[in-house]
Amino acid sequence: MILIDGSAGEGGGQILRSSLALSALTGQPFRIEKIRAGRSRPGLLRQHLTALQAAAAVCGGKYSDGTGLGVQELEFYPGKVRAGTFEFAVGTAGSAMLVFQTVLLPLLGADEPSRLIITGGTHNPLSPPFEFVASAYLPLLRRMGADVDVKLIRYGFAPAGGGRIVAEIKPSRKLMPIDLSERGEQQEVFAEAFFSNIPFGVAERELAEVGTHLRLSPADRRVREVKSDGPGNVVMVTVASEQVTEVFTAFGRRSVSAEDVAREAANKAARYIASNAAVGPYLADQLLLPLSLAGAGCFTTGAPTPHTLTNAETIKKFLTVRPVFEQHDGAGLVTVRLGMRSA
Ligand code: AMP
Repeated sequence: MILIDGSAGEGGGQILRSSLALSALTGQPFRIEKIRAGRSRPGLLRQHLTALQAAAAVCGGKYSDGTGLGVQELEFYPGKVRAGTFEFAVGTAGSAMLVFQTVLLPLLGADEPSRLIITGGTHNPLSPPFEFVASAYLPLLRRMGADVDVKLIRYGFAPAGGGRIVAEIKPSRKLMPIDLSERGEQQEVFAEAFFSNIPFGVAERELAEVGTHLRLSPADRRVREVKSDGPGNVVMVTVASEQVTEVFTAFGRRSVSAEDVAREAANKAARYIASNAAVGPYLADQLLLPLSLAGAGCFTTGAPTPHTLTNAETIKKFLTVRPVFEQHDGAGLVTVRLGMRSA
């Protein structure tokens, strides 16, 4: 039984989600204690409980009796991964995207195609928004050999939720290594402001600000009113390069001006553009899992975030592959390399 300390490093939900994915993939049971001990509301929230239920559903897994909201320790016993049509409802605005990421990699290894229908949040602070998953994460996974498609059916913003995604996952051979040392030639930078049940003027002001900041032409400033259960607003900057597309996000919120929200997204994008890194800070922690399953590969990124370092430690509990962080001289660049096996 693998023992996982949920308070280690970053101490968030990712430790549980990565453990679930790796357990389903490798057939190794685990016990996790101090779940999300590093968070202000520790233990399982709806999103984590749904990820647990989803992981159990796709691999016929079992977990400790009495596991519910707020629980801070549990044991998980995986079974065999089986394809199917699965419907998971977070029940709050908790991230549907993070539930999707938990079961995606295990389902790629099933014998038949699967369909996932997940309701919850699609655009949440502190989680990958739909466009990040669709435009940044999945294209890289496809290059590694994954046959997966995801569609957004309805937007879900916090606090109302009610978003819906549908994913089609086809059996894929073992993931192949990928080399993301360079991001390649920059092809396109554009900004989008989505809004729902708030005044159009907010999105317009955001685009004006982000456009000025990043010197974007009018054609590269896109505004879209979207349907959703409650109010919502997100600014996203997409930086597409030859080898990788990155998506940087900021959420409109009470008592923060439209201009400040826009600058938040623009600054994240500008920092990335100015760096030589192929991969931004969020993609870095999320790529570790597929790269580890491929058994090899590399990417350049900025200083590794606590999420990245913590995910590397979780991976080491289940796999023999060891993520290695190679510091470059100056410029704060790091190459994350996989493929060196432990003795
Ligand atoms: P945790 O905080 O442990 O639940 O993990 C959150 C996950 O969401 C990590 O994999 C982060 O990389 C990811 N994440 C958080 N914010 C963003 C963002 N703005 N864009 C993309 N991914 C994000």
